[in-house]
Amino acid sequence: MRTVYVNGEFIAEQDAKVSIFDRAFLFADGVYEVTSVLNGKLVDFDNHIKRLKRSMKELNFGPKINEEEFLAFHRKLVELNEIKEGIVYLQVSRGVAERDFAFPDSKTALTITAFTQKKDLIDNPSVHNGISIITIDDLRWKRCDIKTIQLLYPSMAKTEAMKQGADDAWMVQNGYVMEGSSNNAWIIKGQNIYTREADNLILKGITREAVINVAKHLNYKVTAKQFTVTEAENADEAFITSATTFVTGVVKINGSKISSGKPGIFTKALREAYIKQALKQLK
Ligand code: PMP
Repeated sequence: MRTVYVNGEFIAEQDAKVSIFDRAFLFADGVYEVTSVLNGKLVDFDNHIKRLKRSMKELNFGPKINEEEFLAFHRKLVELNEIKEGIVYLQVSRGVAERDFAFPDSKTALTITAFTQKKDLIDNPSVHNGISIITIDDLRWKRCDIKTIQLLYPSMAKTEAMKQGADDAWMVQNGYVMEGSSNNAWIIKGQNIYTREADNLILKGITREAVINVAKHLNYKVTAKQFTVTEAENADEAFITSATTFVTGVVKINGSKISSGKPGIFTKALREAYIKQALKQLK
């Protein structure tokens, strides 16, 4: 049985409770972060907290959060649940208030919850085999840069992908790939690596940033530029990045085979280099 975190307390998961009036429950009025754990330590924690603060600011959450306190309860959850490899899910909601569309008083206390999941991040079947992708219309709102818990459309997209026998979906606007249901999308053509620029229409992935840096160290050429579905289908390599998948090869897009159906060599090199630098900066 897991121990989870609710507003300052560590509680057995079956005893953890949040009010039905919580705005996360009624309006998806909450933001979240997923931090991966390797060797029992947190990967890129500072950047996840920085992005969480930004999400809260963009949505005018009242109370501020204390970074040290957040680090402490993340570490405690990892320890209590004996997580060597996996994730910590963190959610901050605007809190509990009588149901009303307008935001409540800015002094309303936040609801802060977190839990862990054990996962094989470094070694799992999709690392070796790659994943297959379908593309789907992007029907989300225009503030995808804010990491909100309003994830119904990405859930629909991933479910549709699985129904079609694929692993995930890349969401598309006007023929251009935006991002995956829960990851950033990348392609490689010749010597060029492309991932879309991070504006209000996609999430600026923490892993995306780290991989851009890693690629620069390897002297690879990365261009933050959008690409079309056709370009993706004809790419030499393709991959996704996220806190839980790191760098994972895409071997099929809408039925078109990419890099002979196996994760490509640049993809593998980027994954290795990413993990190597992540292991050096654990918290
Ligand atoms: N885009 C979306 C829509 C996501 O949900 C995620 C996962 N949080 C990402 C990109 C990747 O972000 P990160 O590398 O910070 O996990």
